[in-house]
Amino acid sequence: MFIMKISKQLIDPFERAITYLRVSVTDRCDFRCVYCMSENMTFLPKKELLTLEELDRLCSIFVNQGIQKLRVTGGEPLVRRNIMDFFKSMSRHLISGALKELTLTTNASQLERFAEELANYGVKRVNISLDTIDPDRFAKITRWGRLSQVLRGIEAAQNAGLRVKINSVALKNINEDELFTLTNWCAEKDMDLTFIEVMPMGDIGNENRLEQYWSLKDLEAELSRKYTIINLKEKTGGPARYIKLEETNQKIGLITPLSHNFCESCNRVRLTCTGQLHQCLGQEDEADMRNILRKYPSNDLPIIQAIKDAIALKPKGHDFNYSRKKVSGNISRNMNHTGG
Ligand code: SAM
Ligand code: SF4
Repeated sequence: MFIMKISKQLIDPFERAITYLRVSVTDRCDFRCVYCMSENMTFLPKKELLTLEELDRLCSIFVNQGIQKLRVTGGEPLVRRNIMDFFKSMSRHLISGALKELTLTTNASQLERFAEELANYGVKRVNISLDTIDPDRFAKITRWGRLSQVLRGIEAAQNAGLRVKINSVALKNINEDELFTLTNWCAEKDMDLTFIEVMPMGDIGNENRLEQYWSLKDLEAELSRKYTIINLKEKTGGPARYIKLEETNQKIGLITPLSHNFCESCNRVRLTCTGQLHQCLGQEDEADMRNILRKYPSNDLPIIQAIKDAIALKPKGHDFNYSRKKVSGNISRNMNHTGG
């Protein structure tokens, strides 16, 4: 008997296997970082957001189609009401073995409260965004954040056994002088560290991106004044490349979407909190999953087909460019909407 084999893999037109989904569960946040949001943001009405049940259904379909790593992000994912129910529910895919990793990116403001529970639901690693360890500067960058609360969150995460990676946005004239302080601090606390170049995402009010932009080439040159830098071959399918500081054995990630093209090995897609599937962070293309989810409450086949159709349109790469004096490839969505 002939049995048709249905592929449980998502492969895009450039032969890249899509195994990583980043899902934004809210556009809201308790901070207002200067590179991410303007101070008076208008957030989406609740009915626009996917419910936790819809998120669960959609993410589970993705997992059944071959997604192995799920990163929960936002906005600030831990300010979404009842978000622990979502983590708890997704942990069944870890238990079944279908999902290899469940993780999140957070500003850590709520981690003191949730770290233990996250660990119980199978989260092993967490990315924490922190650009400075100076309290006044922290208040300036995040506008509404308090460093002490975040430091308590980080401690709670480590106490719960979570591996912490610090993500720092490299900001010209803002945290440039903290390069070595931050690097040492992470080494002392045995936390990984990744620097990110500021990206042209969304309207951020009066702030100026070109003024914020500090090229990681310059940051790396600065590091090399004090350390011997070894380039590591390691690839994650993402935008980071890695270096090692020989003297401290510390591995440092550099996310350089603007000066380094990582697209050829891209393995990811992103889902916004409103259920729009973005095949590429740096392009405007999107596919509306919310409509289909709501139209077919008990039939998953049209949703699977919509996912496959969207992946078949995944573009080759992004067009970000900070060349000369203007920012091009600017994307109208804010990062808190798509999820960083
Ligand atoms: N609120 C959480 C946090 O801050 O970790 C998760 C969402 S946040 C949008 C995810 C990441 O995006 C953070 O590391 C943040 O620093 C980064 N980010 C936000 N806006 C950015 C921009 N314009 N360029 C580069 N990174 C940005
Ligand atoms: Fe909030 Fe994260 Fe954006 Fe900062 S970077 S405003 S913490 S969503």
